[in-house]
Amino acid sequence: MAAAEPNANIPDYEHTEVNTKPFHIDSFRQEWLNRLKPSSYSFQQQDEDTFHANFAEEMGVRAETMAELKSVCSIESLRCHPKDQKPNMEVVPPDPTLKTLIQRKKRQDHRASLKITKNRHDLYADELERVTVGKKPEEITDIVPEGEVILVINVYYPAVADKFAYTRPHMTLQMTGSHSLAELRDAICCSSDLQVCGEFSNTPDVAPAFISKDHYKSAFFFFEGVFYNDCRFPECQDISVTTVEWLKANNFPPCTQAKMEDTRFTDLKVKVGYPYLYCHQGDCEHLIIITDIRLAHKTDCLDRALYPLLTHKHRITTEKCAVCHLFIGRWFTTNDEFAPSDPCLFCDKCFRMLHYDPEGNKLGDFLAYPYVDRGAFN
Ligand SMILES: [Zn+2]
Ligand SMILES: [Zn+2]
Repeated sequence: MAAAEPNANIPDYEHTEVNTKPFHIDSFRQEWLNRLKPSSYSFQQQDEDTFHANFAEEMGVRAETMAELKSVCSIESLRCHPKDQKPNMEVVPPDPTLKTLIQRKKRQDHRASLKITKNRHDLYADELERVTVGKKPEEITDIVPEGEVILVINVYYPAVADKFAYTRPHMTLQMTGSHSLAELRDAICCSSDLQVCGEFSNTPDVAPAFISKDHYKSAFFFFEGVFYNDCRFPECQDISVTTVEWLKANNFPPCTQAKMEDTRFTDLKVKVGYPYLYCHQGDCEHLIIITDIRLAHKTDCLDRALYPLLTHKHRITTEKCAVCHLFIGRWFTTNDEFAPSDPCLFCDKCFRMLHYDPEGNKLGDFLAYPYVDRGAFN
């Protein structure tokens, strides 16, 4: 018998454990919906008894066995303290036997030896994913529809500095299949969007009006031979055209173009685990990797208004002001007689106190350039 033709809508590895072959996201979703019972992807909470009865039936176990399993596997029996004592959840016991506690103690001891204390940023970052698990919307109309797909997307730092070549993703987002690529674009924070080009020592107050994001709105994503351009604003230019024409002139397989605002994720054909490209501000290039595509589950965040959902954000150290060493640098100056170095970085407050009189008149000679720290989005 001839082997059945593999179904192209079901992802298969192209490189084992690395990335899949390309597949169409909505067709993949349909394959799941055709195979699953609606109750499997329903968001309705099953009551516990029904759940256990179904479980017993599926696993082929008898009622007595099920009852025994329930008691042996209950959370109540997971205990490393005497039965009549209430444990303190904040304190890890000195000689834990539970694997999770052993790991937690290791981590705690490590932090104590390095004198690392958790600041509010770290606490917030740890909470990011947890706070939205199973979250329901206030308005029932804002609920993610049953049978919707959820994509997990890693966005990386632009590979301009070696420093960023080996870091974890800058951010991890969850998006639904009905989101457009333009919504992904709007969710990506990059400090190059906030850059201000120019020298502003005579007019420091007008600098914020020159933010790159407001002036250079062109951008594209590149997925599987298609450039998806941002065409939402009249100022947008097709910045992929140079590459498209070069490919044509050099006999490479032709690439096509589309609008990112008209393209939903479900329309895309992609490989999971494969690096794609996001380019904005002319040459700020980020790798984008879709790491998972799956049906929404009742334990997912079900509030549509909270998507794109940020589940991880990498934090980097910030450059501090050379005077107060406290606030993030906002200006750097050159040819500056007041500065201890050339160039020198100042926070907004120290910069103005040192370089202008109370009426805002410039004191002395210097050149001033707005500075946007990479950690601005921490
Ligand atoms: Zn960027
Ligand atoms: Zn300062």
